[in-house]
Amino acid sequence: MIEIEISRAITAEYNRKLTEHLENDVVIVGAGPAGLTAGYYLAKAGYKTALLERKLSTGGGIWGGAAGYNVVVTQSSEIPDEFEMTSKKQKGLYIYDSIEFATALAFKAKKAGLEIFNLTEAEDVIIKSDAVEGVVVNHSAITIAKLHVDPFCIASKYVIDSTGHPAEVVNMLLKRKPNLLPQGIQESFMDVETAEAGVVDKTGEIFPGLYVAGMSVCAVYGLPRMGPIFGGMLESGKKVAELIDERLQSSK
Ligand SMILES: Cc1cc2nc3c(=O)[nH]c(=O)nc-3n(C[C@H](O)[C@H](O)[C@H](O)COP(=O)(O)OP(=O)(O)OC[C@H]3O[C@@H](n4cnc5c(N)ncnc54)[C@H](O)[C@@H]3O)c2cc1C
Repeated sequence: MIEIEISRAITAEYNRKLTEHLENDVVIVGAGPAGLTAGYYLAKAGYKTALLERKLSTGGGIWGGAAGYNVVVTQSSEIPDEFEMTSKKQKGLYIYDSIEFATALAFKAKKAGLEIFNLTEAEDVIIKSDAVEGVVVNHSAITIAKLHVDPFCIASKYVIDSTGHPAEVVNMLLKRKPNLLPQGIQESFMDVETAEAGVVDKTGEIFPGLYVAGMSVCAVYGLPRMGPIFGGMLESGKKVAELIDERLQSSK
């Protein structure tokens, strides 16, 4: 029966992907601009990488640009050019259509070999020998409905928190390790120059096995927010991929 063949194709293919990615080199939590960029560069370098996104769509905060005006701005076109995005240059800024920006990141990351699991929420971390070695996940529909259903686990050598403002993975650690960040998690007042540079500069490992990228860097280090400019998010995603690449190369 064709109906059953369709169902079999979907369930078999999903189970194949999931089973293959129960163990990874890198798990990225959050498919905004930072997570998608990190995933693209890691997959392109040949690492087995899974990206988890709680929502149906990838792209995080890209779609709405600023105040719902679906336009995105960066100060450099280097990474968008790698993704073959169309830009307009104006007064030292590069201007993009949000829809093209969000879809180009996801399309090229997927083509590079990144496996993306949408509707999948990270709800906790796995710690072994005082290092993060994976995440505890559940189906978003289950967490949204607050159903009493156990999660399952996905292992990885490194985890990236690219969950944006709430820095959710770091917060999972803070619940049991409150001394990790005595100052708590909160970004500071708006200041584009300091924030764009600071986000890239501070992108890195915050706890053994756990890296931060994108707006979660701002939140974790109390950096200024930078308003609707997305170049720092892309550069932070690229930097975290390079840092993890170095680690994985040196452990070969
Ligand atoms: C209220 C508000 C204020 C903003 N202020 C600024 C600002 O000051 N500066 C600025 O540059 N931009 C701001 N933005 C715009 C925008 O959110 C960010 O710049 C940009 O999208 C951040 O990129 P990111 O990749 O770090 O994270 P995001 O684009 O936020 O993407 C994070 C993704 O992680 C997913 N996620 C979160 N937790 C989990 C989990 N546990 N499991 C699975 N998935 C998860 C989310 O669904 C989301 O798709 C703001 C947006 C909002 C809504």
